[in-house]
Amino acid sequence: MERARSLLKKYYGYSCFRAGQEKIINNILNGGDTLGIMPTGGGKSICYQIPALVLPGITLVISPLISLMKDQVDALINQGIPAIFINSTLAYRETVTRMQDLARGFYKLLYIAPERLESESFRELIYQLNISLVAVDEAHCVSQWGHDFRPSYLAIAGLINGFATRPAVAAFTATATEAVRQDIIKQLGLQNPLVHIGGFDRTNLYLQVIKGEDKKNFLLQYLRQNQGCSGIIYAATRKEVDSLYDFLQAKGFSVGKYHAGLSDGERNQVQDDFIHDNILVIIATNAFGMGINKSNVRFVIHHNMPKNMEAYYQEAGRAGRDGESGECILLYSPQDIQVQKRLIELNETTPERRETDYRKLQSIIDYCHTSNCLRRCILTYFGDTNVADTCSSCFNCSGDSESVDITVQAQKILSCIWRMREQYGLTMVADVLKGSQNKKVLQLGFNHLSTYGLLNNYAIREIKDIINMLIAEGYITMTQSEYPVLKLRESAYPVLKGQASVYQKVRRNRQVHVDDNLFQMLRQLRKDIAVREKLPPYMIFSDKTLQEMSRCCPTDEQGLLTVNGVGEFKLQRYGSEFLQKIYRYLAEGGIEDYPKN
Ligand code: ADP
Repeated sequence: MERARSLLKKYYGYSCFRAGQEKIINNILNGGDTLGIMPTGGGKSICYQIPALVLPGITLVISPLISLMKDQVDALINQGIPAIFINSTLAYRETVTRMQDLARGFYKLLYIAPERLESESFRELIYQLNISLVAVDEAHCVSQWGHDFRPSYLAIAGLINGFATRPAVAAFTATATEAVRQDIIKQLGLQNPLVHIGGFDRTNLYLQVIKGEDKKNFLLQYLRQNQGCSGIIYAATRKEVDSLYDFLQAKGFSVGKYHAGLSDGERNQVQDDFIHDNILVIIATNAFGMGINKSNVRFVIHHNMPKNMEAYYQEAGRAGRDGESGECILLYSPQDIQVQKRLIELNETTPERRETDYRKLQSIIDYCHTSNCLRRCILTYFGDTNVADTCSSCFNCSGDSESVDITVQAQKILSCIWRMREQYGLTMVADVLKGSQNKKVLQLGFNHLSTYGLLNNYAIREIKDIINMLIAEGYITMTQSEYPVLKLRESAYPVLKGQASVYQKVRRNRQVHVDDNLFQMLRQLRKDIAVREKLPPYMIFSDKTLQEMSRCCPTDEQGLLTVNGVGEFKLQRYGSEFLQKIYRYLAEGGIEDYPKN
């Protein structure tokens, strides 16, 4: 372990392992099998990369996505770690050369996709190498109970059994229920494995659900406030992605879009632009992200409620992987439920599976509605016991909101729904409250209702916002039919009778983080180096490392080495450029005490 720790500093620039990493690495180095379950950003890669450096021979890493593989290998090479991948993008000749170099001991890590293992000749080649560890990334893909089943993962067990000397096997995933966990152990044939279930809490992530607000307005305001930050906006459908993209582009934002309707070329380009910080914000369906290891994503906004908590936490978890603060914001509207239900219905599957899907959908609906701690809601869902009742960094717990009394507006709305005999939908009710001259409103005689025009000083959009909020807070229900109708719920009556008040939580605006000048300068330098080296900026140094540099202002190599994320290799490679920038900053700031050379 001592050697492992010194390699961690040398290659990664980190001074200590996280609690789970230490346990897992120790087990691997002692030859044991491992199942590591940690959230996205929890630090799974180091769990097998450090053993790969300590153990003799080669570590074989099985990873599901080719794009992810290239990214990981590039990052390792840029840290001075000899790694290579073999996949279907390579010509046969190149594959042979790489295998020869592996046999000569030029590399410590070999990344492959599971599909490779279906070829017997390839398996034979693997058996000729000295493999001391097999690491299986995204191991839930081996289970039919998981959400991303990949049949080729089933070939892994056969590979492992065929070795003359069985290597240690370590499997990693971010999502695993008890059933999936047992299935991974069985399907991979893990022998008496250490099962480590890491805490799912990502304390650097701020969580928020926004209900009943105009989503486009929110996005405009948010992007204006957080200019310069990288983020992902997830939307439910391709159509919605296109429409948001057009809208934000027209407003002058530099954004990219990604969905399955685009060509491979277009998708690769936009992904590349995002990784290299040429485009800071990407609007995407859930097709985007599996292959993205970008660590400096500062926010993930869900324009629509996703299908379940697993999907939400996985996608939202792409924020703040570098450990710096990140924001996860879910823009909820009741229509999102209809969309998700329709998707479940369209899915050709067994009745049991459909029931599970509905149950899982309810978990995220509950998340959107709770006024309790959002973090607690997520963590208890994933089976974390011992979770505090409140936290300091979710919207519901922090002081980022203030309550505004909207009892009178609520009474007008509830009474209007009642007078319309609970037979009309959101738009019609809003029209009546606005006092619209719309033909249908007049035809149905709603202009004679006592509630007609009661909210005429509000915009239609604002009226709809309040109605949506009343739905989310459980005063009104929306029927689950093709044409959803608004109906009053039990809790509406005390409000109508003046026995209960309604409050709306109004948000105070926040900024993801306050940039200081030096941080901005270092970020620009990182971008220049990234262009020169043709690497994504976050692979040079993470945002967290740059933040620490700008806080500590190291002025010599020794000082720079104490910054988390600066290892020896990167010090040699980039150290002097960053030090120069810091000297200059200090000089211009009038601070005399700095080295003059
Ligand atoms: P995962 O694969 O679990 O999603 P990663 O392996 O990509 O997570 O790690 C997430 C981030 O945390 C990376 O930026 C990584 O460098 C950083 N990290 C991992 N382990 C440590 C550590 N011991 N100290 C500091 N940062 C770490």
